[in-house]
Amino acid sequence: MEGVIDFSKSKSEFITDLDKLLLQAVKLRAVIPLPVHEARGVDASGIMSLILSSIDCSSSDAKCCRENHDTPIPVMEFEKNLILSKYGISLPDIGGYWWGIRTPCPLLSGNNCICYTERPMVCRYYPLQPGLAKDRDGIMYSLDSICPQAPILARKIYTITYELRENQEHLMLQTRRMS
Ligand code: SF4
Ligand code: SF4
Repeated sequence: MEGVIDFSKSKSEFITDLDKLLLQAVKLRAVIPLPVHEARGVDASGIMSLILSSIDCSSSDAKCCRENHDTPIPVMEFEKNLILSKYGISLPDIGGYWWGIRTPCPLLSGNNCICYTERPMVCRYYPLQPGLAKDRDGIMYSLDSICPQAPILARKIYTITYELRENQEHLMLQTRRMS
C-alpha cells in the first residue's frame, strides 16, 4: 500500500488525503504507514517505545488477540516451549522455525492475557508492523489497522508532523527575511 501523503499541500487538502489513507487502510485491513522512516543511526527502540506507549488498551476488547488476518500469530521456539510448559497449550508448527497462535488466542481470558508479563515478542510490539510499508524515502514504521487505536494514533502522528513542518518552514522564512 502506497503511504505517501503530500505534506506540501494546504492543511485542508492534507487532512482530506489523510482521511482517505486511514479509511482505505481500515477497509482493506491493511497496515497504516506512518511518516516515520527506519533509518541508520536512529534510536529505533526509542521510537518504537514511544509509539507503543501511546496505544491505549484500557477500554479494549482485545481485538488483536481475537483476530489476526485469518493467519496464526507467529511465535518463536522458546515462546512456544514456555506456553506449553507453563500453560499446557501446544502450538502448531507453521514452518520457517515459527509456531502459530490461532485466534482467538487460547491464552485470552475475558479481555485479559493470562501470560501478559511473558507474552510473545510479537504481542509486545503489536500493533507495530515492521517492514510492511515503504515510500521513496525508505521503509516506514506502520501500524496494523485492525487495532482500533491505530488510526487514532496515526492521525495524531501525521497532524503533528504536518504542524512541525509548517512551523519549520515559517521559521526558515523568518530567518531568511532577517538575513
Ligand atoms: S499471548 Fe496474550 S497478548 Fe498474545 S495474542 Fe494471546 S492473549 Fe493476546
Ligand atoms: S487491538 Fe489495539 S487497543 Fe485492542 S488490545 Fe490490541 S493493541 Fe490494544
